[in-house]
Amino acid sequence: MSSRVPSPAVRAASQLKRRSISKLQGAPPTKTAARATAPTTSTTRRAALTERSLNCPLPDRSNGRVTTLGGVTSSKATRTSATPILPPRSSLASTRPATGSRINSRAPTPTKEAAENERLRDQVKLMQSTQETQTVMMEMLKEKADMLQNQLTMMSSQLEMEKMKNQTMAMKLETAANEIGEKSTSLNDAREQLEEKDATLRRLHNDVVDLRGQIRVSIRVRPKLSFEDGSSTAIQYPNRNAIAFDQKQSFEFENVFTEVFSQKDVFASVKELILSCLHGYNVSLIAFGQTGSGKTYTMRGGSEDKEEHGVIPRSVSFLFEESKKLESLGWRFEFLMSFIEIYNNEPFDLLNKHQKLKIRLASNSVELDGLTEHTVVKKSDVNRLLEMADSNRKTAATKCNAHSSRSHAIFQWTVKAEQEKTGISTTSVLKLVDLAGSERAKESGVVGDRFQEMTHINQSLSCLQKCISLQRSKAAHVPYRDTKLTQCLKDCLGGGSSKTMVIVNINPCDENVNESKRSCEFAAKMRETKIGAAVQQRDLNSTKTSCK
Ligand code: ADP
Ligand code: MG
Repeated sequence: MSSRVPSPAVRAASQLKRRSISKLQGAPPTKTAARATAPTTSTTRRAALTERSLNCPLPDRSNGRVTTLGGVTSSKATRTSATPILPPRSSLASTRPATGSRINSRAPTPTKEAAENERLRDQVKLMQSTQETQTVMMEMLKEKADMLQNQLTMMSSQLEMEKMKNQTMAMKLETAANEIGEKSTSLNDAREQLEEKDATLRRLHNDVVDLRGQIRVSIRVRPKLSFEDGSSTAIQYPNRNAIAFDQKQSFEFENVFTEVFSQKDVFASVKELILSCLHGYNVSLIAFGQTGSGKTYTMRGGSEDKEEHGVIPRSVSFLFEESKKLESLGWRFEFLMSFIEIYNNEPFDLLNKHQKLKIRLASNSVELDGLTEHTVVKKSDVNRLLEMADSNRKTAATKCNAHSSRSHAIFQWTVKAEQEKTGISTTSVLKLVDLAGSERAKESGVVGDRFQEMTHINQSLSCLQKCISLQRSKAAHVPYRDTKLTQCLKDCLGGGSSKTMVIVNINPCDENVNESKRSCEFAAKMRETKIGAAVQQRDLNSTKTSCK
């Protein structure tokens, strides 16, 4: 028996029919059936056709009844079982035997024939309807195939476009990579040139600083304060760099900053010294003057207002900025901050609960046993430490019944620099000193503890001046050890190893003219000092020789 495999369209149609029947009979629809009956892009015409095919009669082979796909027995079928239907006349005629012949078998009854005819007609109708359904399904499938074909075409053209885009991107990337390669080569060349220039600039910078004098002295006369109502006519300025008292005694200095000069102007004059410390030289900046003359204002500043910031906060910002620039030339820096107070000739750590310190002097360096050194990487680190120093200083001052003007404050900033490529490494130190008031004990009329404090202050200040003078004359013995102040500053005042600037602060009021004159005399002696060329502070393990 040859079994013909039904085409997919025929299978789909019969499946559709079967599922629809089961749906109508109450069976839950399957996924495929649901999809088949769900509204598709097919037209209403197609839906109507399907509907018709569902309702067309099906022969019930078991009892010969005709049933619609909807499960309803047709009236015709009912009639068939109830009342026999007469076959058409023509068919009756054709089935009748010829006249005169003997009839041995019984002829089929007309009722049976009619029923058979009816069944055949129904079968034909059913086949027609099935064919129609199949045609519709075929159409649907064809449409779907067309749609898929279109999608495929679209996707392959998109793919083509993406391929083209990728190719363009790859070309662009290659071009960019080539450009980057070229640029990095020229950048390396430029960097090498810059490194050479940096070394030359450092040498030149140092020469300029040395030519100006390794010890420089400037004068700063502060403005008269609102509560000061006395006269201020004793001070004159004969020229840009000179200051005179009562039209008689006149002094010349590196700079004379009158009351119109701002904090910014003062800092501009010390900037190059501060930079030397990044280059590996020890530097100190010392504010000298009687109490109330403006030493603290010069070093720390007047208020939170940035314009009023003094040398310490400005130096910190400057060092951070300049070190960033040098980092691009392969330098690495480490900054360590300490704050020392010297009161009654004893050093204390302002960043460690005012702990007393012990000084050890080596031939070229100063060691303070127990001094804490705090690594700082940003301005806020410094501000936090400055606040700590202020509060420790205040507490100590209250305990000792002393005032900050009766102690020396040394802000210490250690710079550790290293350039991997050249193997150069340096350690240098910047000391920003706010000295105690320089007024004379005799003139102040103080007694007791206060007199002792002032004696210590005056001893340390005159020793400072003596050390610088003896250094100038290259004396065999310089009495750094005589006071704690000179011990602490030794590495910044020693000949051949440091650069120093003293800013002498002056009170403008006539009533202080004697102290002001004495301050200028003190400073003039230091200015005459000619200290040998500074030597860069090179680490012992540094592989290269000095730049100078
Ligand atoms: P010192 O530290 O020498 O005792 P201060 O720095 O405390 O003196 O200054 C005394 C007062 O004078 C402070 O109120 C300070 O703000 C003010 N002062 C000092 N120098 C200046 C200046 N250049 N401009 C404005 N005010 C100043
Ligand atoms: Mg002060």
